Amino acid sequence: MPTTIGIGFGIGELKSYSMKTRRDFISKMALGTVAAGLSLPACNEDKAAANVPAEGQIPLAISTWPFGTRANEEAWKILSEGGKALDAVEQGVRVIEADPSNQSVGYGGLPDRDGHVTLDACIMDSTGNCGSVAALEHIKHPISVARRVMERTPHVILVGEGALDFALTEGFPKENLLTPEAKARWEKWVKTAEYKPRVNAELHDTIGMLAIDKDGNISGACTTSGMAFKMHGRVGDSPIIGAGLYVDNEVGGAAATGLGEEVLKSLSTFLVVELMRNGATPQQACEQALDRIIKRNGGKADFQVGLIAVNKAGVAGGAGIQAGFSYALYQNGENSVHKAKNLV
Ligand code: ASP
Repeated sequence: MPTTIGIGFGIGELKSYSMKTRRDFISKMALGTVAAGLSLPACNEDKAAANVPAEGQIPLAISTWPFGTRANEEAWKILSEGGKALDAVEQGVRVIEADPSNQSVGYGGLPDRDGHVTLDACIMDSTGNCGSVAALEHIKHPISVARRVMERTPHVILVGEGALDFALTEGFPKENLLTPEAKARWEKWVKTAEYKPRVNAELHDTIGMLAIDKDGNISGACTTSGMAFKMHGRVGDSPIIGAGLYVDNEVGGAAATGLGEEVLKSLSTFLVVELMRNGATPQQACEQALDRIIKRNGGKADFQVGLIAVNKAGVAGGAGIQAGFSYALYQNGENSVHKAKNLV
């Protein structure tokens, strides 16, 4: 049975908000006007604009992009039976990793410019433990290798051949991950070999996932084949703790998708969690972290970054720099896609 945890603003705050700018509101919130204990929307206008979920509910699962609904579905099987958030996020994203029709995650992912499918993934649990693999080839489920790194080694990150050796030692099968469809797209790309990431153009699209279980514990997972046709050896944000994913069980969690280089430069998910620690709602924290990226780019950001976040109370949020980012949220027995608010 899902638990409702109300957290929101005083009614006066909500009424007066409509007359103010979002920035005024955010700075006001930073002054500490959050009133816990009310089952009110975290931010009424944001809800209207971006279909932001109204109130805290656990358990929950949230994933980047509409394909996240299938990951959520799998995660929910675990969460609804009282299982752990860590198992939920691992099993959830494995569904997408195994899907050859998804060309931005796992098996079937588009290769690098030399034709190698190289995968990045990380996982983080409610105790702050984490594990990661980067530039891993031939293994269909990098998220499970990342979990083994977390649970069975004294390290956090294994890369390239070392990660592959470890995976094979752990009994993961060595497989060809380059499907005929992905190979055909790469062969077409090679003719011009122009590397230019395009906004929401399916050349990228990580699955980042967060779950809160019935005990209120938070975990996250993030897995991707990275930017299509990247340089061989390129590692993005997705396997880097604090960039592609961050969880702090006292506060909440965040996950990222989009142009990894930009996420790396500002450690966006760590920032989102720290903003929430200082009183921002998940929605506000995502928007503020994206604002930071936009500002660093002189106000002109012609690329996409999408962020999702949840706080300890089970309130979710998400935002994208550009229009077109959406996320899937399974909460209160309902699995639905939410169009994220965009900042430019
Ligand atoms: N963040 C991923 C990367 O840069 C790609 C994406 O999510 O679109 O590798």
